[in-house]
Amino acid sequence: MHAQSAEIYEKFKSCHAYETALELKAEGKIRHFGISFHDKASVLEQILDENPQIEVVQIQFNYVDYEDASVESRKCYEVCRKYGKPVIVMEPVKGGSLINLPREAQEILDGLHGGSNASYAIRFAAGFDGIMMVLSGMGNMEMMRDNISFMKDFVPLSAKEQEAIVKVREIFRAQGLIPCTACRYCTDGCPKQIAIPDLFACLNAKKQFQNWNTDYYYNNVHTKEGSRASDCIKCGKCEHICPQHLPVRELLTEVAKEFDK
Ligand code: SF4
Ligand code: SF4
Repeated sequence: MHAQSAEIYEKFKSCHAYETALELKAEGKIRHFGISFHDKASVLEQILDENPQIEVVQIQFNYVDYEDASVESRKCYEVCRKYGKPVIVMEPVKGGSLINLPREAQEILDGLHGGSNASYAIRFAAGFDGIMMVLSGMGNMEMMRDNISFMKDFVPLSAKEQEAIVKVREIFRAQGLIPCTACRYCTDGCPKQIAIPDLFACLNAKKQFQNWNTDYYYNNVHTKEGSRASDCIKCGKCEHICPQHLPVRELLTEVAKEFDK
């Protein structure tokens, strides 16, 4: 049951989706019954309470979102443990955001003289009790080889590595970047065809690196006439669907201020 949240759960309940899935399971057409989840821990608790048949829960879990007030990774994980549900991790590298780190943060990880940035993020997530699987998007053979290299004989982060991750998290969060994971759920329904995650990435890159390149990408790659951030008509369709609950309209106003002056 994909992307459950308070709003989507109500919709699933109203069309008896859970009952239907369980019937299909009883008929042997479904082998396992689980949910992926994007909302507050209290909502997850309600869903698990009302549906004890749920076998597994997939949550967003990475070292930056661990204590994030909107994602509540740690709290959601704790609810899964309380209800004895194995956890599947999604977004362990936060949509790739934990690969390109700010210089200061990169220096901290380089100081460990160990693996790739992805390896620290994935090992962080995989090191908790009850984690059944860590899902990581891989775009090429090199990424797959890297992931296999440190997950084959898995070793959790050492105390020194944990300390480094805490410092990286602080640096990351101090930058005030837009926490968009580039899932692109929002783009299909946008009547102005605004490339929302790409425009957020432009603003994030500008904040992080202050380079001219972001203006080039904004103007020539990610926008066309009528689909700039300032063309948003504030219909709100994107906000209904965003699993990160981002105030997209407000954030696009920020993007427009920077790039559509
Ligand atoms: S609020 Fe703006 S960005 Fe969101 S769907 Fe509507 S037009 Fe697109
Ligand atoms: S704004 Fe939300 S829905 Fe759109 S890509 Fe980012 S996280 Fe996904």
